[in-house]
Amino acid sequence: MLEVRILLTTCNSYVLGMAYGPRVPEYLLKEMECPVCRDYMVPPILMCKNGHNVCSKCRGRIRLCPTCRDNFIVTRNVALENIVRQQEFPCGNKERGCTALFSIENIAEHNDVCGYAKTKCPLRLINCCSWEGHKNNFKEHVQEVHGEYIVYNPTFHCQVLSRNVMFVSHFGELFTYHKRRKDGIYYCPVQLFGTSSEAAKYECEFKLMAANGKDGISSKFSVSSYSEDFETIFNSGMCLRLDGKTAQKFLVERDLNLTITLSKL
Ligand SMILES: [Zn+2]
Ligand SMILES: [Zn+2]
Ligand SMILES: [Zn+2]
Ligand SMILES: [Zn+2]
Repeated sequence: MLEVRILLTTCNSYVLGMAYGPRVPEYLLKEMECPVCRDYMVPPILMCKNGHNVCSKCRGRIRLCPTCRDNFIVTRNVALENIVRQQEFPCGNKERGCTALFSIENIAEHNDVCGYAKTKCPLRLINCCSWEGHKNNFKEHVQEVHGEYIVYNPTFHCQVLSRNVMFVSHFGELFTYHKRRKDGIYYCPVQLFGTSSEAAKYECEFKLMAANGKDGISSKFSVSSYSEDFETIFNSGMCLRLDGKTAQKFLVERDLNLTITLSKL
């Protein structure tokens, strides 16, 4: 650590032992970013034959080095790992006003919850709202503007067959349920406005019942965080998928007979 700090004092106004204020110069922070996912690299940091770095998460997903297209070797960049472990990193929403600094272990978790992160209202999915703003102000926005879309009971019916969005206010939290179409299939995730680890404390059960009141199906899924994007949820299969043919079996007078129950694990 000592060598690193001394090195930094020579290339910037970095003051040895300073508790806050400018940390690593911008160009050195760039060196700690993964060229694939653009996140700061959490050790182990892996290398290609020519010494380019990549984070371990991305290494598993690519065959060749994204910088030089050469092969990877089974070697870690231990020196860079040590530097990374001793740094404090600025939040990704620095430009929007978040001044917090985090260790490499905690920065990802913070990015999930940072109140300065930009978020969009899910009602944009049904062309009802174009609100976009700081996460901090989102719950207030929903309560003020979308009262008619909120249910307060953890068990609720959802009869809309096409795209739709609802909010559930319960357990002292705010959730959203949406139904969204992709390649002819409806995807129905339930998401918590909170971190992934908070979301992991909940599950949702979907019950579809035919008009005869006897034939039904039920399946349970975990709740995801609203900060997880749709592609991840679609691809992970972590939500109810409903094709047109199945949906037809559970129609009661043209309404979908779907009941959703949210529960705490
Ligand atoms: Zn990466
Ligand atoms: Zn390379
Ligand atoms: Zn932040
Ligand atoms: Zn809205």
